[in-house]
Amino acid sequence: MVRFENVGLRYGMGTEVLRDISFAIEPQSFQFLTGPSGAGKTTLLRLILMSLRPTRGFISLFGQDVSQLGKDEISAIRRRVGVVFQDFRLLDHLTTYENVALPLFVQGQEDRTYRPQVVELLRWVGLGDHIHAYPPVLSGGEKQRAAIARALIVQPELLLADEPTGNVDPTLARRLLRLFMELNKSGTSVIIATHDLALMDQFDSAKRFVLGEGRLHIYD
Ligand code: ADP
Ligand code: ADP
Repeated sequence: MVRFENVGLRYGMGTEVLRDISFAIEPQSFQFLTGPSGAGKTTLLRLILMSLRPTRGFISLFGQDVSQLGKDEISAIRRRVGVVFQDFRLLDHLTTYENVALPLFVQGQEDRTYRPQVVELLRWVGLGDHIHAYPPVLSGGEKQRAAIARALIVQPELLLADEPTGNVDPTLARRLLRLFMELNKSGTSVIIATHDLALMDQFDSAKRFVLGEGRLHIYD
């Protein structure tokens, strides 16, 4: 569902952050994307999301050549991808409920059609008591879970998460990881960028993509 062929990326006139990257992500697969800070994990996720264009090489998403897509097609493809950003990107003037429901609201769906689903998901991520709270009063871990719920509400075919356990204690990190595993079992491909080696060691069935010096190494 994602294919990179000899992809390179440089920012401006700088050196190449990513060099000659090739890989394929199969449907219903689970992979960690790791490497030291600054290795290019966020950059790679942004390429998949089409918020950056490669300076070299070929990328396809759901079988479509990304370089050939128009604005509407990009929007349509993005709706099939759930994203958990490192900085959450919650809207402070909306409640937790409204933030999570937002992707459905902007699609023009009516509140009564999705309310039970949103409430159930919020309970599932452990935010049942914070449904009407605004992000500024949530803890880092609660914001993280709200951001995860918002990514999952659209039932994405592909989930990208950038350091999704960066703000939570090890117990909650394991719970969140199990949640991603469950999602994966129900059919979603998952890519998790993290530098938390201890966490990955507890899930050694997952594939690992390791970035270093602009190159990608793949371990099954
Ligand atoms: P990681 O997520 O692994 O920490 P990033 O993808 O954020 O790595 O960054 C990789 C490299 O690219 C870093 O050296 C970073 O400073 C640089 N970089 C990231 N975004 C930009 C940008 N918008 N403009 C210039 N350099 C950038
Ligand atoms: P998007 O296009 O996906 O909305 P943004 O342009 O907001 O993404 O930024 C993507 C990421 O790149 C952010 O996490 C931001 O902090 C990081 N970034 C932007 N510029 C730099 C830079 N010069 N060095 C390192 N990271 C950067």
